[in-house]
Amino acid sequence: MTFKELHIIEPILQALSAEGYTQPTPIQEQSIPILLRGKDLLGCAQTGTGKTAAFAIPILQNLYLHKLNNGNERKIKALVVTPTRELAIQINDSFKAYGKYTGLRSTVVFGGVKQGPQTDDLRRGIDILVATPGRLLDLMDQGYISLKDIKYSVLDEADRMLDMGFIHDIRKIIARLPKERQSLFFSATMPPDIVALSRQILGNPEKVSVTPMQTTAEKVEQAIYFVSKKDKPRLLLHLLKTEKIDSALIFSRTKYGADKIVKMLKKADILADAIHSNKSQGARQRALGNFKSGQVKILIATDIAARGIDVDELSHVINYDLPNIPETYVHRIGRTGRANASGIALSFCDGEERAYLKDIQKLIGQNISEITEQPYPDDGRFIPPKNNGHAYHTRQDSRSAKSDTSGGFNKRNHRQRSFSRRSR
Ligand code: AMP
Repeated sequence: MTFKELHIIEPILQALSAEGYTQPTPIQEQSIPILLRGKDLLGCAQTGTGKTAAFAIPILQNLYLHKLNNGNERKIKALVVTPTRELAIQINDSFKAYGKYTGLRSTVVFGGVKQGPQTDDLRRGIDILVATPGRLLDLMDQGYISLKDIKYSVLDEADRMLDMGFIHDIRKIIARLPKERQSLFFSATMPPDIVALSRQILGNPEKVSVTPMQTTAEKVEQAIYFVSKKDKPRLLLHLLKTEKIDSALIFSRTKYGADKIVKMLKKADILADAIHSNKSQGARQRALGNFKSGQVKILIATDIAARGIDVDELSHVINYDLPNIPETYVHRIGRTGRANASGIALSFCDGEERAYLKDIQKLIGQNISEITEQPYPDDGRFIPPKNNGHAYHTRQDSRSAKSDTSGGFNKRNHRQRSFSRRSR
């Protein structure tokens, strides 16, 4: 299948070819025809599948054809609402890249920065607006943005929106949208509250689902280190020094933890940056820029800050802490293994996190292999029954028991795989 076979018009085909896209990804193949037909869409897909282009291309095409028929009026005709600033910036960049020969204009608004440059852009007139919910409502209330000409609305990462407490904002935004419009709704997961929300927004949607959670999980090589909480810093240093890690995104559950990791690495002369919501927008963008350009190879992030990070060539995701929500694990490891690349996800699991690991393995439907050859194995794997000193396994026992089920994934073959990916 080619983009041409999907009836994409020439100015967009040229831009896609400039981006190096030779063929549509599965979500694009499924969504584009539906959207070009004007149908509402409910998409179950996560970042990394090419979902941005899946909605941006048909919106651009529809707007372009519409514009040719109806003159050149610059009113906001397409609205994309997304939970984080980073994601918003990237989506706007995608619209600009795919639409560069269409003459259509897009801009992005998000909070945490001065509104002046954003309102200047809006005043000049735009066709497509990408926004985070809070700033969008703010600028609507101030009269800078009107939604009355919206023909296309996209709610992106709906599950994250709800996790981040944006439900009231979303409801307010939806209430201001014209009834006559084409609506798109994307979410990586479809729990009942998301399905209910989608019903309020969408007419009679067509559904596409391209990424059952397992897809990413299967593509990314995963391994687990059982390690005590106090040994995690040393284990991380050990890995960064001994493994061939080209670029790593390290997840910390807390902002405080992220800063602590950066400090610890700095002490060991390892350059690293952190992004989380306590940092200014400028500092976050600088950190992300340095990471993307390869100047800084290690980025520590909290889950919310990491939502929009889109780095091609990300070789490793390291879960310094395991998330308590299993879907978050899948989101995290989906940062590596983007588009057609493969990646490695390494996770640290301390005694308290074993229950999280169990939930994660259940969700992805596979057991994550343990790396046993490491200097800080946690011997708290088996909790000794009270009053019975003999009834629990020694570390030796547990190791040999585990190695039977490790599926042959040991440090050596892990290294070989890293090497072969690097040399591609
Ligand atoms: P997304 O899921 O929208 O975040 O996209 C994930 C990554 O895939 C981004 O880096 C896109 O630039 C890239 N991508 C999207 N569509 C294609 C395509 N058809 N061919 C190659 N790469 C793509």
